[in-house]
Amino acid sequence: MSSQVRAGLSRRSFLTGAVALSASGTVAMPRRSLAAAEFAFGAGQIRVFSDGHLTLPMGFVLPEQSAEEIAALLEPNGLATDVLTPDCNVTLMRSGDRLVLFDVGAGPNFQPTAGALAGALDDAGIDTADITDVVFTHGHPDHLWGVLDDFGDPLFPEATYRVPQAEWDYWLADETLSQTPDDRKNLVVGAQTRFETISDQVVMIRPGQEVLPGVEAVDTAGHTPGHMSYAIHDGSESLMIIGDAIPNSIISFQKPGWPYGPDQDQDMAIETRKRLLDRLATDGSRVIGNHFPHPAKGRVERATEGYRLVTG
Ligand SMILES: [Zn+2]
Repeated sequence: MSSQVRAGLSRRSFLTGAVALSASGTVAMPRRSLAAAEFAFGAGQIRVFSDGHLTLPMGFVLPEQSAEEIAALLEPNGLATDVLTPDCNVTLMRSGDRLVLFDVGAGPNFQPTAGALAGALDDAGIDTADITDVVFTHGHPDHLWGVLDDFGDPLFPEATYRVPQAEWDYWLADETLSQTPDDRKNLVVGAQTRFETISDQVVMIRPGQEVLPGVEAVDTAGHTPGHMSYAIHDGSESLMIIGDAIPNSIISFQKPGWPYGPDQDQDMAIETRKRLLDRLATDGSRVIGNHFPHPAKGRVERATEGYRLVTG
């Protein structure tokens, strides 16, 4: 069996689960406050919210690696070898009169362990109508689907939605749905539904653009065709919202060259990941990774093998 077929089968079981969940209607969400990370940044403030976590079969995550290679990397780090359960994090930036979210989590219809953002914002006393801007890294479910509430209405009615142009073009292109394997079509339909619902409030982003004051769009395509990370500068401080360009704080740091199943273009994603890790280890910027262990912030350092995330 080719690795592509194996990955497809694993992906099928992952996505079938997602479909079953959306068909089952309301899913219980953890409502306790999951917000734990708040820090001053320049003249503003950053707070990282947990959206819960995902459950991903290891055969989907690491389709090319042997069981021995996977065990050798994950067991010493205290991680299971059959399933990966990455945290999901959403960053809120308060800057001047703006309240900016970077991605919006999975919402109620993806996986039962994710979609906690709306409850966490509520617990923190933040009215979703006060969000002025939503800046997207990419159009995957765990980053985009939370833009709609339980009733399919926009959760952030007053926001300007800032979307990478290449990401928008990819998900909404006529041929994307027909060229996507059946077991992944729900990702395309899900992205199209959400992008179309918010289309009147969308502003496009291009690589290198200053999206908002002090927020620069950094092209990190590979995970998806238009994937974008965001470098935020305020005075002498810098922070990178990575998105899924460096998806895992163990695997991607120690083995950046391993193909990662969720990446759509694996060769480009590896190249992008290596370039970004090198940049971040060199410039010492703070980082927030959407799937790093909550609260997901730290700095990148070079290690004997690859890199390591120094948290804090
Ligand atoms: Zn993700």
